[in-house]
Amino acid sequence: MRTSQLLIPTLREDPGEAETVSHRLMLRAGMIRKVAAGVYTYLPVGLRVIRKVENIIREEMNRAGAQELLMPIASPAELWRETGRWDFYGKELFRLKDRHERDFCLGPTHEEVITDLIRREVRSYRQLPLNCYQIQTKFRDEIRPRFGLMRGREFIMKDAYSFDKDEEDAKLSYQKMYDAYTRIFTRCGLTFRAVEADTGIIGGTSSHEFMVLAETGEETIVYSDEGSYAANVERAEVRPPTDTPTEAPQPLRKVPTPDARTVEEVTALLKTTPQRLVKTLLYKAPHETVAVLVRGDHEANEVKLKKLLGVTELELAGPETVAAITGAPVGFAGPIGLRQTRILADHAVKAMRNFVVGGNEGGTHYVDANWDRDFQVAQFADLRNARAGDPSPCGGGRLRVARGIEVGHVFMLGTKYSKAMGATFLDPQGQERLAVMGCYGIGVGRTGAAAIEQHHDAKGIIWPVPIAPFHVHLLPLSQSAQVSEAAGLLYELLIRSGVEVLWDDRNERAGVKFNDADLIGVPFQVVIGDKGLAQGIVELKQRRTGEVTRLPPDKLLEQVKALLLQHLTVS
Ligand code: ATP
Ligand code: MG
Repeated sequence: MRTSQLLIPTLREDPGEAETVSHRLMLRAGMIRKVAAGVYTYLPVGLRVIRKVENIIREEMNRAGAQELLMPIASPAELWRETGRWDFYGKELFRLKDRHERDFCLGPTHEEVITDLIRREVRSYRQLPLNCYQIQTKFRDEIRPRFGLMRGREFIMKDAYSFDKDEEDAKLSYQKMYDAYTRIFTRCGLTFRAVEADTGIIGGTSSHEFMVLAETGEETIVYSDEGSYAANVERAEVRPPTDTPTEAPQPLRKVPTPDARTVEEVTALLKTTPQRLVKTLLYKAPHETVAVLVRGDHEANEVKLKKLLGVTELELAGPETVAAITGAPVGFAGPIGLRQTRILADHAVKAMRNFVVGGNEGGTHYVDANWDRDFQVAQFADLRNARAGDPSPCGGGRLRVARGIEVGHVFMLGTKYSKAMGATFLDPQGQERLAVMGCYGIGVGRTGAAAIEQHHDAKGIIWPVPIAPFHVHLLPLSQSAQVSEAAGLLYELLIRSGVEVLWDDRNERAGVKFNDADLIGVPFQVVIGDKGLAQGIVELKQRRTGEVTRLPPDKLLEQVKALLLQHLTVS
C-alpha cells in the first residue's frame, strides 16, 4: 500500500489523553482514534494488526478442533433472566429497549446465547464434545475505560464455549484450550505466564488467566521463587499465621489523634508501626454493610470478601455511610462500639494483641485494643492480598510480585449454565444429563496493545513479525527518477510474492520518513537512495536490532523471504 493513499495520520507530539505506552503509540502511529470514552475507530494500520491477531487465534482454535460461528451482538433479556444475569450483571451490561418496549442487551459475553443454541440442537452424547467460538465485538460499560484498546467499552473478543458429556472430557477440552492459548500468545511474540485465577462465586473447578508481563499491567500476579506456583493476587491464598500471640493484654485507652487519618500519620503520631495497627474498612454489599479488619501494612482483598459474602457487587462505603455507622469522619472508623455491623477480620488480626484502632469519633484512636475483649469478630478469614515474601501456598518458596496484562482467560464452568437453561443430552443408557461447559476468552485489541507494551523503544513500536501491520516499509529517500523507478519495481516484486509492503511514496524529507517508519514499527525497512543505487545497492534495516544489510536490489526479495520464513514459521 502507498502511504500517499492511506489514512495513516501519524502524530509528532505525544497526545495528552494517553497514559500508557501502547495507548500513546497507537494514537501517534495513526492506528486508532477515540470516538467516545472506551469506544474507538480502528484506522487501516490498526485494523491490519487486529486482523493479524484474529487470524492467529482462528488458526489455533481451528487446529484445536473448535469451530467458528457468529452470534448476534444484541440478545433478548429473557435469556439473561433464565440465568439470573439480567440483574446480576449490574451496570456493566449495556441495556436497550426495542420499539415494542422489549428489553435487550449488547452482549458482554455469550454463555446464554450459546447455551440456548446447544440446548435446542444437541440431543445425544454422540454430538459431543463440541467447542464453538466467535470473534466479535463485545460491549461492557466499564466504570473506568482507559488505556486505549486495553480497557474499552466496545472491544473485539474471541470467545469460545465447550460442551462435554462429563467432567473428565471437559478437562480435556479445557486443556486443549490452555495449550491453544499458549501457542497463540507465543506466536504473537509475547512473554506471558498462565496464572491460577479466581473463579468468583460461580465456583467452577479451574481457571487460568494468561498474563502478559508488563510494568503497566493492571493486574498483580504473585509467583513462587521456587516452585511453579503462579496466581492472580486476587486469588492467591494466604495461609493463617502459625504463631499465637503471647503478649499480655493491656488496658484499653482512647487517645487524641487530631488530623491523623492515614496509617502513616497515626503510627507516626503514636510512635508505633503499621504492624501494630488494625485498619477498619466499611464495605457496602447489596444487603448489608460489613466492617473488614486488616493489619495496617496489609491490603484488603475485595474478591475474597465478595466470595465470603456470596455477592458480586461491593463497594467501599462513602463518607455518609461511614458517618452514619461510626459517628465519625473517614479515617477514624474502628470496631469498638460499632452497631448493627458484622465485623469480619483477616487471619493476621487473630495473631495480634494490644493494637491501635480508630476511635469512632473524629480525631481519636484506641490503643491496646484486643479482639474478643473489646469487640466481637463474627468471622476470621483470608481477606488480604498476598504480597512479596509471603510463603507460597503450594509447595515451597516465597512469593514474588509482578505486574501483568490479562489477555486471555480459560474457565471451567461446570454445569452452571446448562443447569439454569436446561442444556441436556441423552447418554448411551438413554439417561438425560447436563452438558459440562467451559468458556475461553481472548481480548484481541488488548493483545495488540500488550504487544506494544512489550515491544517498543523511544522511537516507537517494534512489531513482532507475525502481528505487524506490514512486513516491509519501503523508504525511497528522494524523488529522483532512478529512486522512484527502483522503488516502484521493488514494490511490485515484493507484493507479487505475497510480501506485505507499505511504500512511503510521499514527497517528504528523509528524516520525516525515517521517524514515521520507526514510529509505525514495521519490522523490515528498505531504504532506497541515489547514492546507494549508484553503487548498485539498497539497504535492508531491521527495526528491532538496527542491523543494516547492504545488498543489490535483485537480492532483496530472496533476503526478505528468508527473514519472513524465519519469523513466521509455525512449529
Ligand atoms: P478484566 O478483569 O480485565 O476486566 P475480565 O475478567 O472481565 O477482564 P473476561 O470476561 O475473562 O475478562 O474476558 C475475556 C478477555 O477479554 C480478557 O482476558 C481480556 O483480554 C478481554 N477484555 C475483557 N474486558 C475488556 C475490555 N474492557 N477491553 C478490552 N478487552 C477486554
Ligand atoms: Mg472485566
